[in-house]
Amino acid sequence: MSPRPLASVDPATTELRVERPFTPPPEPAEIARVGEALARLAPALDAFVAGHALGPFPPYVPGPHAPGTGALPDDGVGLDATIEELSHLVADGGRISAPGFLGFITTGASTAPALAHAAAAVAGGQRYLVHAFNAVEHSSLRWLAELCGLPSGVVGVYTSGGSTANLLALGAARQSAFERLGVDAAEVGLSPGVRGRIYASSLAHRTIHRAAAVLGLGREAVASIPVDTDGRILLDELEAAMREDAAEGIVPIAAVAIAGTTDTGSVDSISDVVDIARRHDSWVHVDGAYGLIANASPELSRLFDGVDAADSWIVDPHKWLATGVGIGAVFVRDEEVLTRAFAEGDAAYLEGSFHEDTAAAGSQFDMLAGRWADQSVELSAPPRGVAVWAILREIGRAGVVARVERHVAFAREVAGRARSHPRLELLMEPQLSVVCFRYVPPAGIDADVVNRTILDRLRRETPLAPSSTIVDGRVALRPCFINPRTTEREVADLVDLAVRFGDEFAGA
Ligand SMILES: *Cc1c(COP(=O)(O)O)cnc(C)c1O
Repeated sequence: MSPRPLASVDPATTELRVERPFTPPPEPAEIARVGEALARLAPALDAFVAGHALGPFPPYVPGPHAPGTGALPDDGVGLDATIEELSHLVADGGRISAPGFLGFITTGASTAPALAHAAAAVAGGQRYLVHAFNAVEHSSLRWLAELCGLPSGVVGVYTSGGSTANLLALGAARQSAFERLGVDAAEVGLSPGVRGRIYASSLAHRTIHRAAAVLGLGREAVASIPVDTDGRILLDELEAAMREDAAEGIVPIAAVAIAGTTDTGSVDSISDVVDIARRHDSWVHVDGAYGLIANASPELSRLFDGVDAADSWIVDPHKWLATGVGIGAVFVRDEEVLTRAFAEGDAAYLEGSFHEDTAAAGSQFDMLAGRWADQSVELSAPPRGVAVWAILREIGRAGVVARVERHVAFAREVAGRARSHPRLELLMEPQLSVVCFRYVPPAGIDADVVNRTILDRLRRETPLAPSSTIVDGRVALRPCFINPRTTEREVADLVDLAVRFGDEFAGA
């Protein structure tokens, strides 16, 4: 259909003839009725939360109601049918927030952060323009830093998770190391012939390696330092590796101390890593994606001695704070080096949005809410801090400490039962809320096969879903307790069922 001309000239009279005024087609999306729509989804949300405690975790098979699996719709179904279809999606949703889901280090949002996500989606706007959500983003970052025991004055940025947070921290470390060689790596790239190294234990999360790849250092630039029987980086091995590299002219980019390894929940001796790194003039990064929040507990804080002496830190609110997936945070001591590493540079399209002084601004669009857009790989981003703010407002420091200590007690409970049971074996004393144990079959039966079978049966047949890892070459059952909905019942059932399935396999 060719557009109708709005006006034309009458060839006879040469008069301008105005056609009837342009009426644009109506917006097809519903742009109001938010509360009503939420209320109509609410029963499905409540049923999900109430029901997901029950039953095993069968594989997802799209049912007859499964919406959105066909072809791209030519005509939309409208809001009402979309709410209906969303309700079905909720019912069949991912159940990582079920109390028996104990796998990896992940869980869903509790109520207040979930609500905060909804609020931010409706009223949040952009994080780089000034509005209420960004004000609470600033305070939630400050609160997080305080909970984690970081020095006052550190600057934080929210990210999509630990992967990006590690990338930002190591990007700042790379910038700092190359600047000391007289090279602005963010501006001109890496100097050919200069080799950089990141030091981390063999239990380092692979996102460290990926960050090294993205930063142009290469995955091979990550030195894998062996660990002791508690999963902590071996300090003399770290010292030796840094010394040997220095002799070869390899530039130390960062020494990583892991505050809670993903496999075993081990916390490196941070103060020793700091001492060694300082002797070699290296940046120190603390990967606390999972465990750093446990420093809020007075009972556990001795594990984190020296944490305030590092240069950068990450922590994932979407892990132990259960804010819902998509929220990590990075903190740095030197804001300027992070900014030099990640600044976008001047842009005409941001011209006029730089008033530091609120009084000088004519509107909220005349100001930036922070320097986040220049301290990250994201310009547009949701105001993630509101979900962190919501949980910290709801439960406070005491609530965080209570949650962490309860979960650590769960891990110790499993450890105690595994230690005292004749057919279970504790593979590593838990330091945080991850615990690695296994069933020990009679001689002649492959223990790895039995434990893989136990894991498979737990996930297939029961409402319990731990994951696994390898400890010292042995397959381990590996529950991780971070889920606010998990209770003592899941803890007891996990051990009992592991024994039962092991016995059935072994014919005991
Ligand atoms: C989970 C985790 C990461 C990665 O975080 P994502 O949020 O999954 O991207 C990095 N380091 C450690 C120690 C982790 O446990």
